[in-house]
Amino acid sequence: MSADFSSRWAWAEVHTGLIQHNVAIVAERVAPAKVWAVVKANAYGHGAIPVAHAALNAGAEGLCVALMDEGVALRRAGITAPILVLSEQPAELSELLVGYELTATVTTTRGVAVLANAASAAGKVARVHVKVDTGMHRVGVAPRETLSLIRFMQSFDSVLLEGVYTHFAVADSPEHPANIEQLRLFNEVLTELAAHSIEPPLVHAANSAAALANPDSRFSMVRLGIAMYGLLPGDGVKELCRGLIPALALKSRVSAVRWIEAGEAVSYGLRRPVNAATLIATVPLGYADGVPRALGETTVGVLLNGVPRQFAGTITMDQLMIDCGSDSSVMVGDEVVLIGRQGEHVVTADEWANATGTIGYEIVCGISSRIGRRYQ
Ligand SMILES: *Cc1c(COP(=O)(O)O)cnc(C)c1O
Repeated sequence: MSADFSSRWAWAEVHTGLIQHNVAIVAERVAPAKVWAVVKANAYGHGAIPVAHAALNAGAEGLCVALMDEGVALRRAGITAPILVLSEQPAELSELLVGYELTATVTTTRGVAVLANAASAAGKVARVHVKVDTGMHRVGVAPRETLSLIRFMQSFDSVLLEGVYTHFAVADSPEHPANIEQLRLFNEVLTELAAHSIEPPLVHAANSAAALANPDSRFSMVRLGIAMYGLLPGDGVKELCRGLIPALALKSRVSAVRWIEAGEAVSYGLRRPVNAATLIATVPLGYADGVPRALGETTVGVLLNGVPRQFAGTITMDQLMIDCGSDSSVMVGDEVVLIGRQGEHVVTADEWANATGTIGYEIVCGISSRIGRRYQ
């Protein structure tokens, strides 16, 4: 028996065939624009390396990550596809960025200079994409400073401008006027660059929501994240996500059962006394595994023996309890589905998100490293 978490009675199942299905659907819709798969944050909790392979097999031409380390992990796993790091990294990481042939994002002259020096010292050419801040106001060079940043870049032989891109702030609300304004500013930058014969091969703006909602945002490629995992970027694009299927299930097994009497309650705070004799099933995962404690206060439940059931009391760090009513058939070892399908019922990460006031992204990213991922 290994001493990792793989033998634990709580695990996530990631269906790479469904990742491929989702990538293929979006790839077909956005063609001729290419798809680059966003596998930051351990592929939104799904596992970066298997998801990267699945996405590339399904036709993605490149990968995007948030951190240099995430890119290095993919390279060490033997992945040779282009990998774009989505923001400018600390100067001291330049050598590694260049050494592992990661595509860097630059937004400042200092960022260009350190990368150029690192590449030149290594006898290499650093590939870069310039990110333009058209309104998200997180990272990026201002539109009016983009040309001069690229001009500065062109003074170094060791840096190659491969792409120019931007990022939308409200892509999940396609009707929001900010989308049009950001696109207008971005197109203005592209026109100005073209007037100076600067036409990088890769131009991109769209995340999942924009890629699905707005053909004008697709340019030469889209950065596909959440939709690849089969989750909704937001309610505003729900209809456009038809056909996408969630690729991750979160499962466990009943570890203990007991009857409690009318008037008794369960878990910290003893907050919800039962009205009648009730079977309580204990399930060995909790908020340290990524089941939000707040979920216990909602009507979202779990699936157990093909039946939706509610939490019986406060979700604890490592365990949670299920109210099985008068059902005496529930036994230790029975499978519990927290996210996924059991029989004819389904619970989704998006339902967890709606019930707890967050987004599906945060739910799947929050499934902790204590939960082993099993691939199918
Ligand atoms: C995370 C991220 C994406 C992917 O967004 P989704 O909504 O998950 O498709 C795209 N671009 C950038 C810059 C990102 O940070």
